[in-house]
Amino acid sequence: MDGSSSARAEILRGIAGAPGVAIGTAVVMGSARNTYPRRHIHDDEAAAELVRFGEAVERVRQNLREMTDRLGDKPSEAAILEAYAAMVGDEVLLEGVRKQIHIEKRCAEWAVVAACADIARRIAAVDDPYLRERSHDVEFVGERVLRALMSAAGVDATIPKLSGRSVLIGHDLSPADTAGLVTEPVVAFVTEMGTRTSHTSIMARALEIPAVVGVTDALARIASGDIIIVDGLRGVVIVDPTPEQLDDAKSRSERYTAFSRELQESRDRPPATLDGTRITLRANVELPAEAILARDYGAEGIGLYRTEFLYIDRLSPPNEDEQFEVFRAVVEAIRPRPVVLRTFDIGGDKFVSTFQLPPEMNPMLGLRAIRLALSRPEVFMEQLRAMLRASAYGDVRIMIPMVASLTELRETKRLLEQARAQVKARGQPMAEHIPLGVMIEVPSAALMVDKFAQEAAFLSLGTNDLIQYALAVDRTARNLAYLASPFDPSILRLVSSVVRAGMLYNCPVSICGAAASDPLCATLLLGLGLRDFSMESAAIPEIKEAFRRVKISEAEAMAEEALACTTADEVEHCVAGVLATKFYDLLTGER
Ligand code: PEP
Ligand code: MG
Repeated sequence: MDGSSSARAEILRGIAGAPGVAIGTAVVMGSARNTYPRRHIHDDEAAAELVRFGEAVERVRQNLREMTDRLGDKPSEAAILEAYAAMVGDEVLLEGVRKQIHIEKRCAEWAVVAACADIARRIAAVDDPYLRERSHDVEFVGERVLRALMSAAGVDATIPKLSGRSVLIGHDLSPADTAGLVTEPVVAFVTEMGTRTSHTSIMARALEIPAVVGVTDALARIASGDIIIVDGLRGVVIVDPTPEQLDDAKSRSERYTAFSRELQESRDRPPATLDGTRITLRANVELPAEAILARDYGAEGIGLYRTEFLYIDRLSPPNEDEQFEVFRAVVEAIRPRPVVLRTFDIGGDKFVSTFQLPPEMNPMLGLRAIRLALSRPEVFMEQLRAMLRASAYGDVRIMIPMVASLTELRETKRLLEQARAQVKARGQPMAEHIPLGVMIEVPSAALMVDKFAQEAAFLSLGTNDLIQYALAVDRTARNLAYLASPFDPSILRLVSSVVRAGMLYNCPVSICGAAASDPLCATLLLGLGLRDFSMESAAIPEIKEAFRRVKISEAEAMAEEALACTTADEVEHCVAGVLATKFYDLLTGER
């Protein structure tokens, strides 16, 4: 940071993945691929190259084992690393490398890259999403072996050796990369892939470091050693900043830290509106480790546990006992507060490596979530039994995703009863009564909500999907994101009718979509009658503070006005008009 006036000050824009502002030195991941030696070898060198390869494989395995040990109480991340460790020794990879060394006469580094490229090519030729996932894994494992080979010190780390305040730059950061960062001096992430709900963003928020994701040309514009500013509040990255930009970033970072500390201090204050109406704020979690974080942020339980994260990056689904142990740990960490365990929502844009799904033209409209679960009852029953067994250790509620018809709810009830009988027959303990709720995230379910409210124990609005399906906008399409607005009047009407049905039939209604973590949108939802919100833990202090500043009558009047609007822009304008000044600091992270 020499403060020279010839700074490049290049501004890259992406998506604000995790809040905060950090300054650090860029460490570009995956660059080994561009710099590895390409050398033809003599016949008499082949044996030595194979030995080097074997040693590198052993080092990678050892390193993955050490990372697994370091993770200790994080079983799902550990399972990912174990799966990678198994793949390092994969026969197909070994055979490919042997061929490259002996027949093509290439040095070990070149042999690894060529063998991996060959495997990836063969996998890509097969039109199977399961195998496509594996090609990603092959790439990951190959990169790691390559780094081990290239490392002069003979040490392979998950990431290059870090010293000082480092900002990791990658095309994508795998769960194994981020899990390995727990003890490293990493101050921020920047990735080319990803959205606010992608794994990198979730992990950055869990580690409480800023992240900007979806920076499409990050690897082309940032080199290792560059000083960069990562602004996770605005979704901006500045490469080689000017002294003024550095000063500004430092003070913004300090302001944000002070501001979030202040919000954190309100942790033990019960959430309520200005006029004293009590609200419930719960946490959405993806990884078991986040349960502790949820408690630290003052969550009154877990309103959405996305159990599909237990199935990612592994070759076979987790069995009943494995899932039971994870659920029990989460339930015990949160009790006496409730934990809503959502049955796996796999398919669509979610990871599929443990299921061999047929190729689909429209995966979002395909074999996803409850549809997949009901089509694989043996896998579904393992999960249901694990959930039932966890209920002996705290307040467990079960929720099913992407329900489109009452048949799916009734069929799940039937399977749940069967699972209960099986657990009981084994003499294993479980709670007498376990509520079974449904997510309202498909328009058909929202339209039939009066019936669902009479048959389900509770309803939870999944606005991420409800918006996608009601407005016909792919939730992963960055270029259409402007159309997927939670402020769209059609969405407000759907939400309002769900809330009214809940009241009429005395069925609790909550919301767990990302709309709940936006101060403006959450206040609008409050005005529409919602009192029970679930969101990423880090958003809880902010939403609590937002609610403390409004009266219910004020939010209701605003919601009434919004319901009469004709477009999303009009609604947003109406809401901002009422709240922008009141929420200025919450919206900008500044005083
Ligand atoms: C939703 O769709 O709003 C939701 C909470 O579920 P997910 O984001 O996991 O699909
Ligand atoms: Mg959903």
